[in-house]
Amino acid sequence: MASKDPVIIHDPNQLAWQTIAGRAIADPKDLPDRLKAPPGAAAVCRAYPMSVNPYYLSLIQAPGDPLWRQVVPDARELSGTLTDDDPLTETAQSPVPGLIHRYPDRVVVLVSGRCPVVCRFCFRKRLAGRAAASLTDDQVDAAAAYVRAAPAVREVIFSGGDPLMLEDDKLCAALEKFAAIGHVETLRIHTRTPVALPQRITGDLVVLLKKFLPLYVNVHVNHPREITAPAEAACARLADAGIPLGSQTVLLAGINDDAITMEALMRALLRIRVRPYYLHHPDVVKGTGHFRPPINRGLSVMRSLVGRVPGMAVPRYVIDLPGGGGKVPLLPDYVVSSETGHLVVKNYQGKVFVYPEK
Ligand code: SF4
Repeated sequence: MASKDPVIIHDPNQLAWQTIAGRAIADPKDLPDRLKAPPGAAAVCRAYPMSVNPYYLSLIQAPGDPLWRQVVPDARELSGTLTDDDPLTETAQSPVPGLIHRYPDRVVVLVSGRCPVVCRFCFRKRLAGRAAASLTDDQVDAAAAYVRAAPAVREVIFSGGDPLMLEDDKLCAALEKFAAIGHVETLRIHTRTPVALPQRITGDLVVLLKKFLPLYVNVHVNHPREITAPAEAACARLADAGIPLGSQTVLLAGINDDAITMEALMRALLRIRVRPYYLHHPDVVKGTGHFRPPINRGLSVMRSLVGRVPGMAVPRYVIDLPGGGGKVPLLPDYVVSSETGHLVVKNYQGKVFVYPEK
């Protein structure tokens, strides 16, 4: 199918982001021969949509590589042992459709169901890549009314799906509604577009976002090969506009759960002015179990980062508790023992030191 041929797009001005997104592959049989989908991929797509835009496709080098595995359906999505598609009980913590209120001082608004690519490990697999999951204007109004009546809420986080898959006018209207609420101090956007569809970060978008400072953008990045020249340029446009950038990475088995890959990723993020923020252990979500490494693997990766990279490049490694209990940071164990008057600790090299309490 000619219109589905992969296009190498390294010039952000070459095509409009909508055109690139519109040419996403949604059927495994349309993948180019060199990137053939595994058996069973079509059946997976009947349960969980596939979407790989031509830009992201152009970054994939071979079947089974770390980018291919993030976006190409895998039969294990239908055969895993995990059974809960909403283990964080987001639905139960939604007082109005599309708004999650878990922590007292902030809410998450799932404004868009669309994504620049559909990630197979997504913890919102029940919603991701489904345009019908985007909020209607009335639902955005209802979410804003909820926040207006909740004075403890000081931050509104836009998520989805990906909020930057909304057209500028829709995004602006949503941001305006929440920014106008007196007790809302900051806005935050969680997005994968700077690395999965960097053409989305247009000059017009940056001008729009700048109107809503203080606004933070957290970029979801999982592999150093996602940090291309267009991705770097997209992040630079945001950073130059005064928008602080943080990162979110999911620890993915066989994709980035090793010291070398994670160090390369964290160093690259710092270089492009994205401050490493969260390293998420994958949640216990139905259809994603094959992406979950043992927790000890995550702790070992963290141990390898501490002392080897600048502190600013060390993310917080977190698990999100099933049942809506929230995030808990996990740290490698540096305390050997706690004695009267002093602590016995190990440093990043494994050497033991005694540290006085007073
Ligand atoms: S991780 Fe983000 S971009 Fe990927 S499928 Fe989930 S919501 Fe969409």
